[in-house]
Amino acid sequence: MTETYDITIIGGGPAGMFAAFYAGMNKAKTQVVESLAELGGQVNALYPEKTILDVAGFPAVTGRDLIANQQKQLDQFPLTIRTGQAVTNVTANADGFTVTTPQGTSQTKTIIVAVGNGAFSPRKLNVANADELTGKHLFYSVRDLERFRDKNVMVAGGGDAAIDQALMLEQVAKSVTLLHRRDQFRGLAHMVDLLEQSSVKVQTPYLIRELAETATGLDVTLKQVGEQGTIVHEDIDDLVVSYGFTADHRALAAWDVDLAEDHRLIAVDSTMATNVAGIYAIGDGVMYPGKQPLIATGYGEAPVAVRSIMTQFFPNLHGPVRSTSLSSK
Ligand SMILES: Cc1cc2nc3c(=O)[nH]c(=O)nc-3n(C[C@H](O)[C@H](O)[C@H](O)COP(=O)(O)OP(=O)(O)OC[C@H]3O[C@@H](n4cnc5c(N)ncnc54)[C@H](O)[C@@H]3O)c2cc1C
Repeated sequence: MTETYDITIIGGGPAGMFAAFYAGMNKAKTQVVESLAELGGQVNALYPEKTILDVAGFPAVTGRDLIANQQKQLDQFPLTIRTGQAVTNVTANADGFTVTTPQGTSQTKTIIVAVGNGAFSPRKLNVANADELTGKHLFYSVRDLERFRDKNVMVAGGGDAAIDQALMLEQVAKSVTLLHRRDQFRGLAHMVDLLEQSSVKVQTPYLIRELAETATGLDVTLKQVGEQGTIVHEDIDDLVVSYGFTADHRALAAWDVDLAEDHRLIAVDSTMATNVAGIYAIGDGVMYPGKQPLIATGYGEAPVAVRSIMTQFFPNLHGPVRSTSLSSK
């Protein structure tokens, strides 16, 4: 890889994809480097079937459709997209930065880090045979809703994601039970309202103690939380565990450039600049006062980072002044 890019975007989630679009609008020579096989970040990897309600201009859109539309936006520009390549190092040099992946190195003048929570993975269910049941009757996300059609499904967890999964499954499943170890759910009030209006059966306060495979699914041993500790058994077809995610920031910690942190996330100022000149950061992986880890927030941060870079590093490279100039063509 001998080309020099104006902007390298590390991480192809919704924030990184929108930054790439905006860089294209500004005619910057841009590459996106994404460790997963596909672009789309958490939205595509974890909840493609979920109906997202809080993206401006879309009263309701599935994760899959949102990312497909972002891809169409990207296709307008001659960007370089490298998927299946995790950035393992970033080193500063006289011309900018060298970006290293297991596949090779590339040179870039500036960088936008859009790595979300780093390499994330679902928090696993702590029972002995969890690994052997995973993908068979135990799941950590709903990637294919049809898989659960006419099934008796249990969802375990108490946050927004668990409620989301339960409501999504309700559309196709024969029955859905939402299991939580507390009586109160941590989800947004609106989500809890939707849950109460749904046919989802709520079972609290219970913890999963054991799983045994049956001819058709699972025998789940549950223990009531509290003094009584009553044990009950539930026969289900499938179990979806939604205990949140653990984030692995080790990749960034191993980079030669030393990005300042705030609450274990990348600290940025109001222009999305990090402490290293030429490196900006956006999306779930950054922290500043008032930060909200949402798709819409990342969409707002992307143009700020790109415009900051263009103004400071490429003042003579002018892209379209307004986004409407594209649609008038
Ligand atoms: C179940 C669930 C439901 C959600 N529902 C909503 C919702 O309804 N509305 C909403 O606004 N938000 C929702 N969110 C949050 C939303 O998904 C995130 O805010 C959003 O995905 C953040 O986008 P991002 O681009 O910053 O990061 P991510 O989506 O995390 O993407 C980061 C990308 O960077 C890549 N990456 C990481 N490290 C490297 C590396 N070293 N090299 C190369 N690539 C790397 C990762 O593979 C990933 O693809 C939900 C999240 C979950 C888990």
